[in-house]
Amino acid sequence: MDNTTNAKNIWADCLLKIAPKLSQVSYDIWIKSLIPVTISEDKLILLTHLDSFKVTIYKNYINLIKDIVLASYNYLSGVEVVTDEDSHLFCSDSEIDHSIAVQACEPVKTNNQIFDENYTFENFVVGGSNQIAVAAAKAVATNPGTQHNPLFIYGGVGLGKTHIIHAIGNYILKNNPNKRILYVTTEQFTNEYIESIIKTKDNDLNKQFREKYRNVDVLMLDDIQFIGGKVSTQEALFHTFNDLYQSKRQVIFTSDCHPKDLNSLEERLKSRFQCGLTVDINLPDLETRIAILQRKAFQKKYQVSPVILNYIAEKVDTNIRVLEASLSKVMFYCTLSGVSADNIEVVNQALKDEIDLTSTVLTIDVIVDEVCKYFMVDKKDLLSKKKTKQISNPRQVAIYLVYELLAIPLTLIGEYFGGRDHSTIIHARDKVNELKNYDPCFKLYVNDLLDVIKKKK
Ligand code: ADP
Ligand code: MG
Repeated sequence: MDNTTNAKNIWADCLLKIAPKLSQVSYDIWIKSLIPVTISEDKLILLTHLDSFKVTIYKNYINLIKDIVLASYNYLSGVEVVTDEDSHLFCSDSEIDHSIAVQACEPVKTNNQIFDENYTFENFVVGGSNQIAVAAAKAVATNPGTQHNPLFIYGGVGLGKTHIIHAIGNYILKNNPNKRILYVTTEQFTNEYIESIIKTKDNDLNKQFREKYRNVDVLMLDDIQFIGGKVSTQEALFHTFNDLYQSKRQVIFTSDCHPKDLNSLEERLKSRFQCGLTVDINLPDLETRIAILQRKAFQKKYQVSPVILNYIAEKVDTNIRVLEASLSKVMFYCTLSGVSADNIEVVNQALKDEIDLTSTVLTIDVIVDEVCKYFMVDKKDLLSKKKTKQISNPRQVAIYLVYELLAIPLTLIGEYFGGRDHSTIIHARDKVNELKNYDPCFKLYVNDLLDVIKKKK
């Protein structure tokens, strides 16, 4: 094998090992754009066309690249990254396979690996709490971009939003594998955008970002509430959205609340979010919870009696993630103790913590009492309309913790906190999130309290 072919083979192998160690965007931009040139004096020579890329690669990625290359090919002694100017020292331009980098610059093609294969419509139990959301999701999956654009799905934690958008993705890819679908969490979108503006002096990365997000048929942004307050990311989303929308490409959002309640969000984005179809998912009723448990037990091949499934569904009435975790725990416990899953007492023992974890024991009262104790304020004041900082800060923390720890509707939280409306609750939650980011001391308080309360479970 000649040195050029050898370099190509080695690099192809190392790319597979480097990919899991970096974010998708870093990998696409910095690593995939490198071209293996040859092996010279026991070194793997890689080419980049831009000096600025070479600088960044030496600053941030060369150690990782070397570690992986040298660990896999111990007869090599190093890796060198060169620019076009130096590459002729190693071989002529005609010997360099530039198509390798061309591939790297292609817009990211997504594939079904990004979707959890278990998150399908078939595996999603439909009940009163989610039937409209499912109908809308199926309509979008069948005809993306033609109706209900954007689709905005909102609802509490663990109620199936991510499952539903994965189901849309799985459905489209099965029926129309050529569709380019991009699923990202809002955190990923934000990070990639920030990376694109920070890490480059020229506009190339911005261009890469634009191309990545605009060369798709379907864009899915999960948990859009996390874009609140991030002004420039909102700007990027606004333009991305307009571009996709105008060319009739489908956009799907999920969020923990209605677009109009997304605080710290520009009005123009709020109105964009609402110009298609907005649907919600609510807490499932008992029948739906039982059906979900049956489905999960079937999927996981658990041998468990219907009585036990009903029992767990009755006891755990918060979100489905907790419901699922409870079932797994029962099965794990029964397997460990060598008993079959049909004995309520054994199940009770196994679920001691899980049942506590739901509103049965961890109630709003418990949380509020702990917050009052922690900040040394009177509960009556906390639930009153008083607006002094000494009271309103602990109140916001209490609201935040109730929201995070108990999957109960915002309106109920509002009622409990002295008849406040749900937008006040959302404001309090967002405020705490914001303060946690800026004020390390505040973050410490909240985490401290979370620890104390969790120990109560
Ligand atoms: P969210 O994104 O709303 O926080 P997820 O989509 O992550 O919630 O759902 C949490 C878990 O609950 C997942 O394992 C999901 O499969 C399951 N789940 C939620 N709703 C249903 C449902 N109706 N049928 C089956 N599984 C469900
Ligand atoms: Mg989710």
